[in-house]
Amino acid sequence: MDKLVIASGNKGKIIEIKAILAELPLKIVSMKDEGYDIEFEETGTTFCENALIKANSLNRYVKGMVLADDSGLEIDYLNGAPGVYTARFGGNNISQTEKNNKIIELLTGVDKKDRTARFVCSIAFVSEKVSFIVNGSIEGLISDKPAGDEGFGYDPIFFVPEYNKTFAQLPEEIKNKISHRAKALEKLKQKLLALYDIE
Ligand code: IMP
Repeated sequence: MDKLVIASGNKGKIIEIKAILAELPLKIVSMKDEGYDIEFEETGTTFCENALIKANSLNRYVKGMVLADDSGLEIDYLNGAPGVYTARFGGNNISQTEKNNKIIELLTGVDKKDRTARFVCSIAFVSEKVSFIVNGSIEGLISDKPAGDEGFGYDPIFFVPEYNKTFAQLPEEIKNKISHRAKALEKLKQKLLALYDIE
């Protein structure tokens, strides 16, 4: 079975990518599974650029198929911030709980209708044969307090009106069907099935 190596050290992302791509006839592994521990220089100004930087960097070491996910949260009231800087929001020395609380604090007193936000995901795929990018996003609202223990990152403060729950309150099977990452990976799946003639 061919291997597809994920250029990420983020455990939450890796778990989701492995689950969403499970039905592909490929062995999905993380770069850590393969013995690589690389710090990527995310110098791009868009999710697409950063995804490509990560995939191309890993592809220097790994011959074969590589994918990288670059994702983040765009909050309309903050003019799209933190956007591509989502991972670095609040600096490196604060916990995810503190990051979530900081965002809620920045939106103190803001009406529900103005708390709109979206998760965005770009996935870059690089192999000897082809290189391409797919994208996905999901609209939601920033909640006024964190809720739920599922998922990772900003999931406890991202409220999905359709389900009346935050991402962290949704079972992983649901998040993995509707999320920004799920949508991008579904496009990736379709492209790979066509390109590699796999079923
Ligand atoms: P990246 O690893 O540079 O792409 O940074 C992604 C940032 O967005 C990290 O802070 C993640 O925690 C956050 N993020 C991306 N996708 C999700 C998600 O599905 N749920 C919660 N946080 C996410």
